[in-house]
Amino acid sequence: MSFTGDTPDEKLFKEIQPDECFNFECSGRCMGKCCRFITILLDPWDVEVIARHLNLPGPEFLELFCTYDFGSSSSWPFVQLKHAEKGPCAFLLKDGRCSIYPVRPRNCRTYPIGRAVQVEYAGDIPLIRERLFMVERMEFCLGHEGSRTWTVKEWLEDSEAYKYYELSDLYLCLVQYATDVLHSRAWLSPKTARLLMPLLYFPDILRAKLGISEAELDHELFYRRRLKAARTLLTEMAASFGYGPLAGGIVADQNTPLAEHIRQVIIGEH
Ligand code: SF4
Ligand code: SF4
Repeated sequence: MSFTGDTPDEKLFKEIQPDECFNFECSGRCMGKCCRFITILLDPWDVEVIARHLNLPGPEFLELFCTYDFGSSSSWPFVQLKHAEKGPCAFLLKDGRCSIYPVRPRNCRTYPIGRAVQVEYAGDIPLIRERLFMVERMEFCLGHEGSRTWTVKEWLEDSEAYKYYELSDLYLCLVQYATDVLHSRAWLSPKTARLLMPLLYFPDILRAKLGISEAELDHELFYRRRLKAARTLLTEMAASFGYGPLAGGIVADQNTPLAEHIRQVIIGEH
């Protein structure tokens, strides 16, 4: 099985290589038309960076600007921008610019280049395959008529996409691990999925609860460690339902409170 990040139809979206050239330059004549009636999926890193920029606690940011659903077939809490789905994005300014441009989501920063990621687990090791593609041209978008020429690589470097891709892949590996290795569709309920929310989307709340400061672990390292802790927690949950590598074995010390157990994983004592 596989998880695909940007869900392209392989026939519609032709693969392009990093050294291929294309013309693109945003035009004032259509500025912001691309920011309406559009699905923008957010990774945990997108959520963290935007919420911090807006100085909002994670839960408040999700409540105000996002939709997420525990009731889908996977029970996985995927998040997307709420307003952009139904009209203008909440961050679209009157003049068509983006009010959170420096911290805009991964999918906004790379347009018109898309990236599909396929993760497969061979045992415990994820195999990651990527395809870069040109997103289907929208009639109103005049960017392709621009005179500036880029290679795909230059475009992605200019939009600082590579760091986002790396951190997004860690998340995709976690989702795929839960699906393929732990068979989460068989046991992950909305109630258990809620336990993941602080680890995935509320780093500020998690830091406060665990007493881990920014000086102790910077944002990026904390992100990497909290995904690792989510993997540990999911593996132990799966075992209690009879799934995954720990099924039938000994899981965490039941006497250690959950928060302390997570703290130990995050600060590396486990
Ligand atoms: S976050 Fe910014 S770039 Fe992305 S859809 Fe909203 S306004 Fe447009
Ligand atoms: S050129 Fe395309 S991507 Fe750029 S602002 Fe216009 S519609 Fe959006």
